[in-house]
Amino acid sequence: MMNAQYSAVSGMQHEEPLLFEHAHEAPESINLPGVASEIPLTLDAFKRKTPPRIPGLSEPEAVRHFVRLSQWNHGIETGFYPLGSCTMKYNPRVNEQVARLPGLAHVHPDQPEDSVQGILTLLYELQTWLAEIAGFSDVTLQPAAGAHGELVGLMMIRAALDARGDQHRKKVLVPDSAHGTNPASAALCGMFTVEIKSGPDGRIDLDELKRHLDDNVAALMMTNPNTAGTFESDIREICQLVHDAGGLVYGDGANLNALVGVARPGDMGLDCLHINVHKTFSTPHGGGGPGAGPVAVNDTLKPFLPVPRIIKDGDTYRIETRDSQSIGSVLSTLGQTGVYMRANAYISAFGRNHLHKIAQDAVLNANYILCRLKDVYHVPFSGLCKHECLLTDEYQEKHGVKTLDIAKQLIDLGFHPMTVYFPLIVHGAMLIEPTETESRETLDAFCNAMLEIAAQCEAGETDMLHEAPVKPFRRRLDETQAARKPVLVWQE
Ligand SMILES: *Cc1c(COP(=O)(O)O)cnc(C)c1O
Repeated sequence: MMNAQYSAVSGMQHEEPLLFEHAHEAPESINLPGVASEIPLTLDAFKRKTPPRIPGLSEPEAVRHFVRLSQWNHGIETGFYPLGSCTMKYNPRVNEQVARLPGLAHVHPDQPEDSVQGILTLLYELQTWLAEIAGFSDVTLQPAAGAHGELVGLMMIRAALDARGDQHRKKVLVPDSAHGTNPASAALCGMFTVEIKSGPDGRIDLDELKRHLDDNVAALMMTNPNTAGTFESDIREICQLVHDAGGLVYGDGANLNALVGVARPGDMGLDCLHINVHKTFSTPHGGGGPGAGPVAVNDTLKPFLPVPRIIKDGDTYRIETRDSQSIGSVLSTLGQTGVYMRANAYISAFGRNHLHKIAQDAVLNANYILCRLKDVYHVPFSGLCKHECLLTDEYQEKHGVKTLDIAKQLIDLGFHPMTVYFPLIVHGAMLIEPTETESRETLDAFCNAMLEIAAQCEAGETDMLHEAPVKPFRRRLDETQAARKPVLVWQE
């Protein structure tokens, strides 16, 4: 049976060669302003002897090339995008309007303070709201991505430990369910990581944690809800244990969408938290950006916040560029202002009394999918999930069908695949995050597609699943070859 979204995907897409393969005219079709005078003799040696390798295309051809390529892509405006851990929610258009207001978009980072009071007000306001939402005493807006926030958070932890004479503490505990950026950030900060094995329920195992706590521990990095989509219900005890051992607790806030307006990581005992504002507070971020990773800190880490910082002085705002204990500057400007304008608009639209609807609906949607699929797909950790649900290919593997086949078949059915093979703690993981912005109709269409795939497996009709995707111009790619021997330059 075809589902509604499947039958609506067809026709009108164009195969598209590379620009160079397209080119038919000499590059004179490019309009460059004329050179005012002869090139001075001294530069003669640098004069071009051959024409530049610029493809010759007319304007409509160039425009069509890029628009056609964009149509091969799948965005949140194209359809459902349940990429777990990435929070691909719909980004309201009003955010875009706000971020593009000339008075905000055209401000130069080096303008004098008194000429940018408006944007400083909005940034300060956001900083204050993020601190309140996350339950911490202050926030830095400097980090330019979640991973950058991890590094900055760890730099502050490093500085706090050094300040109290704990220079030797270099061990960072990272659960085996953590995002790959966590150990990478610790390594970049000059520390080393020790992986802690999750318990049978996918959560941090207290005994395993205790085994690793000693006076070399600098920090525990944890994600709550974790990447298996379940809440770390021992969070208070976990924080207490780490603190008693003299370490600090770093929070990876990528999953804040499950908590926003309902519960605050600061209240749970964490020392800091990065917030992926592009995820929770809606900036379009497919394909690696743009984003921002502000870090919220408690009083222990506050003295070490990076500069510059925005300070409120009576009715005016100023930029503080010096602070004795600060870790210094981690970005050349105040922060990713465009992303922050969107976040401010998004939070304002909900207001203090309605922010919790984000988390409630996100969690409800994930549990709806879990309930509809749990009888035909293996659920590794029982019970309710938070904002994303985790399934595996255990039942389908018996029929020779793997997570990758299921994900690729979803493309033919008009959906972006879920996150696959992450978290690493379960075999054949499929992590599905619907977000709060999807309707029940969309969730049903997706669940129907997943049920259809499972039924095909049961019926032994698996050839198509191994072939998928057959509809896009580019079929299943040899990803190993692409990673090992990438072809990055066009060769004639
Ligand atoms: C997205 C994500 C990160 C990294 O954030 P970026 O903003 O992409 O740098 C870290 N941890 C988790 C759990 C994530 O989902």
